[in-house]
Amino acid sequence: MRRSTLCAAIAAIAFVPLSAPAQTLEELTVRVDESVQSRAKLAQVMVDKIFSFSELGQQEIETSAYVTGMLEENGFSIERGVAGIPTAWVARWGSGRPVISFGSDIDGIPKANQKPGVAYADPLISGAPGHGEGHNSGQAVNVVAALALKELMESEGIQGTLVLWPGVAEEQLASKAWYVRDGVLDDVDVTLFTHVSSNLGVSWGQAGGTGLVSVEFSFEGEAAHGAGAPWRGRSALDAVELMNVAWNFKREHLRPDQRSHYVITDGGDQPNVVPVSASVWYYFREMDYEDIQRNYDTAVRIAEGAAMMTDTEMSYRVRGAAWPRHFNRTVAETMYEHIEEVGLPEWTEDDHAFAEAVQQSVGSIPSGMPMSLGPIGVPGPRRSGGSDDIGDIAWTMPTVTMRFPSNVPGLPGHHWSSAMAMATPIAHKGAVAGARVMARTALQLFMMPELVDEAWAYFNDVQTADMEYVSFIGPNDPPPIDLNKEIMDTYRPLLEQYYYDETRFDTYLEQLGITYPTLTRPISSPDAPESPR
Ligand SMILES: [Zn+2]
Repeated sequence: MRRSTLCAAIAAIAFVPLSAPAQTLEELTVRVDESVQSRAKLAQVMVDKIFSFSELGQQEIETSAYVTGMLEENGFSIERGVAGIPTAWVARWGSGRPVISFGSDIDGIPKANQKPGVAYADPLISGAPGHGEGHNSGQAVNVVAALALKELMESEGIQGTLVLWPGVAEEQLASKAWYVRDGVLDDVDVTLFTHVSSNLGVSWGQAGGTGLVSVEFSFEGEAAHGAGAPWRGRSALDAVELMNVAWNFKREHLRPDQRSHYVITDGGDQPNVVPVSASVWYYFREMDYEDIQRNYDTAVRIAEGAAMMTDTEMSYRVRGAAWPRHFNRTVAETMYEHIEEVGLPEWTEDDHAFAEAVQQSVGSIPSGMPMSLGPIGVPGPRRSGGSDDIGDIAWTMPTVTMRFPSNVPGLPGHHWSSAMAMATPIAHKGAVAGARVMARTALQLFMMPELVDEAWAYFNDVQTADMEYVSFIGPNDPPPIDLNKEIMDTYRPLLEQYYYDETRFDTYLEQLGITYPTLTRPISSPDAPESPR
């Protein structure tokens, strides 16, 4: 149970401009909305710039320096390296309550490098990371909304504090549970999180998808000549393979909603050396905390069994965690009214043609960009699927995720096709629409603190009435800041030549010499592979 009576404390001083006559919330909403739209150029530059950095989780060095630099220039105070994560930060501006935080993820996807505005597989650098999820767009949404709000709050003397932060390594669910554990956002009253999508929307209640725990199991054996004296070796790779076989047998007896998958992060060095070390990295996903924990416990026993069978030593470490998401009713309903007023961007014929070509490139129905909003999401039958560590924050304060329309619908996700639109007018316009909703919603929360109280009443009396948040990470589990280092050390020097220079080029498409939309592969390169990956 936390705060419950913010309203009475600050209602009297919510908005009393010192010089001009008081403006209504409606008038101020129009002003902040226009102010966001006047920053459409900034949104485009930020979307394009972060796209060009193409950084993977825990290695978002350029992205973090760029966004914090911009916020610092605009009067925000920055705390860097929060929760022991070098690329994490918290930016604050304003004073007093409510304290409203804006978060959004910043990391990319391995091997998802792709030229924007081109509707067939065509990487700038083959094998390099890219924004194959669209996380390059969220900070543009948040920063543009925050700058417009700050300007209005300064001119009108509106009380409140804005807090901005990044989802670092969201693809590995490897930051937000640590923010919660280390109290990074403890002063925040409400979190408005943003995530790229293909439509504009928000939901409340238990969301679809799963929570998870991400665990790496490592085995230690004994090396020996693979042919000369194999009986003297104890293979750590055997242990990994036995663990995987056992888990894959176990699958049949797990609830159908579970999702689990693994990659072998260390499989030994070469065939003629009995592998002395081997590691396998698992995600265990389920719909509820208890089911996740049960599967995690099962996997630990299986790993212990694999170690016994191979005479190896087993150890394991948590690499990431995410609670299943539950979003706040009051905040979602408040936000949805703004979503209806803002509506979808005006898509051009080019946008539709591009979206259809992208959809065709991955075998989806060529439906183009969406033309209508969906309804507000409400609790209903739950479907299994992906996870987002915003769940951990959503179980510690009223939180919603606003989805904004910067990407093409119908794509497989975590894939190069999801990067195709992410530095095109589709992404730019979607980010502005999202920023409008964010600014308008936050303004309303600043001006009507009774809504913040109502949000906490839902959080305390409904959401957490019979559910207590228990983190999957322990007090001493370090954040996995070594993730993706080797990949980025390999590709960063190659990517640097393609960083977007907004001082020389209007858009990233212009810098790359790409005509938008490029729908088919030029006939001059008939030998180009259908898919180079
Ligand atoms: Zn994401």
